[in-house]
Amino acid sequence: MTVSLTTRLPFNLSSVIVSSLEWRDQAACKNTTTSNFYPEKDEITHAKKVCEQCPVKQQCLDFAIKNHEVHGIWGGMGYRSRLRYMKQLKQTRPPV
Ligand code: SF4
Repeated sequence: MTVSLTTRLPFNLSSVIVSSLEWRDQAACKNTTTSNFYPEKDEITHAKKVCEQCPVKQQCLDFAIKNHEVHGIWGGMGYRSRLRYMKQLKQTRPPV
């Protein structure tokens, strides 16, 4: 079964706090299969290459972080890379 990014997201919407998902219409992976972004180890490079040229890479990454996505490639990053990214953000954020 082929499922695009635009159809995989609604399955998670019950736990999502997002004002707009319109960025998905511009996704470089819009017409690819979901399994490409939940890859086996030997397919991760291919998924990340698609993300490199994606015009909504940051929005995708933000979505994954806001929604605590632990699986898949989002914004060109796997889960561990997203954790490192979030840690860097916390370290660079000025104190409140
Ligand atoms: S950054 Fe990657 S996973 Fe996210 S929308 Fe773009 S191509 Fe798809």
